[in-house]
Amino acid sequence: MKTVVLKFGGTSVGNIDRIKNVAKIICSYKRKNIGVIVVSSAMSGVTNNLIKKTKELSDNFDPAEYDVLLSSGEQVACALIAGRLKHLGYKSRSWMSWQLPIFSNGPYSGARIIKINKKEISKFINIGGIPIISGFQGVNEDNRITTLGRGGTDATAITLAKFFNSNECIIYTDVDGVYTTDPRSHLKAKKINKISYDEMLEMASLGAKVMQPTSVQDAKLNNISFSVKSSFMKKKGTLITSNKKAFSNQIITGITSTKNDAKVTIVGVKDKPGVAASIFKPLSLNQINVDMVVQNISLNSKETDMTFTIKSEDLKKTEKIIKQNKKISFRKFTHDSNVSKVSIIGVGMITTPGITYRMFQALASKKINIMVISTSEIKISVLISSKHIKKAIAALHKEFKLD
Ligand code: ADP
Ligand code: ASP
Ligand code: MG
Repeated sequence: MKTVVLKFGGTSVGNIDRIKNVAKIICSYKRKNIGVIVVSSAMSGVTNNLIKKTKELSDNFDPAEYDVLLSSGEQVACALIAGRLKHLGYKSRSWMSWQLPIFSNGPYSGARIIKINKKEISKFINIGGIPIISGFQGVNEDNRITTLGRGGTDATAITLAKFFNSNECIIYTDVDGVYTTDPRSHLKAKKINKISYDEMLEMASLGAKVMQPTSVQDAKLNNISFSVKSSFMKKKGTLITSNKKAFSNQIITGITSTKNDAKVTIVGVKDKPGVAASIFKPLSLNQINVDMVVQNISLNSKETDMTFTIKSEDLKKTEKIIKQNKKISFRKFTHDSNVSKVSIIGVGMITTPGITYRMFQALASKKINIMVISTSEIKISVLISSKHIKKAIAALHKEFKLD
């Protein structure tokens, strides 16, 4: 049977009227006689509130209980949607991931779905039912609940589309598509009609909150095209798919920025082989993700400075680990939590020279200082002071003719 996966994000199910609206959207698909699989996030704000509670109880809340707690928001939203559909006369019921189950592996709070038991859902769809499945969660080999990282309902949706071989997967959210940059912070942002997996993956990884990066990676690996649409208005959304040919003649497709980055500099470390590994190994063992790294050229071949970025929430832990690290010696540890990474993304830069220069020139003309630079084939990222973010995005948006 032809099936479609419909995912609803937190704002889309954020209050009773919005749940009624979501039920209406679901019914519109159901009337077309196709199998509908619904996956829902928690109502907006709920997951954040649960996280706040754990912080009030412990600064090291048990990871397994953390996931049990965080997954509870989705249960409420799913029951409300299924209840509304039943009220409207449709056959519907909710399923939590552990009831199917949806199997996952990997760490708590960052698990990945490895398999979905389809039996019950397939049976239910075949008798005309509308299953409402909790996003963001799975069960692990110890039969404990896991969660898939913030925004993880996107990953549940893409994986359901994969396992059910669905004809369509639609991510309903509070914006009507993927924009050239966050439309809430830059009013001149433009909607993108079609974007490649690679560009979407870079945008998501570099701060465009609209899709969870892992979900885009799963879509790319399994070649699952999906679209992003608004649940509030009937408008054409954005299609995310493979790119056999360029979708537009724009060199740059999107611009992103990050929040909550911190820059760390270790001044006066020995300039000899193995030092970088000695610094980063204990960070990696403590699940601290190091992003941009620069090592200054050593002036005397004896000492150098190492600068890198991490998430602000990891700053305290990083400082402790570095200061307790007996394998390295250094003169000073400094940090700056008011930094953000701004990135320009586009497959067009592979074939167009001069993009780096144009980016740097546009920032220089606004007197924005660049602290760290990193590049890949289809993106250039720079670290700047957080207070310049808005100005930087506006300048780059204009420079690359995205306004
Ligand atoms: P949901 O709760 O539906 O999963 P999210 O809050 O996770 O929604 O993602 C939608 C938000 O992503 C939008 O409200 C928007 O502010 C933000 N966003 C950031 N960058 C972009 C972008 N390039 N295009 C569209 N939205 C973006
Ligand atoms: N409710 C979870 C979160 O807020 C998952 C999601 O919204 O996709 O991160
Ligand atoms: Mg989201």
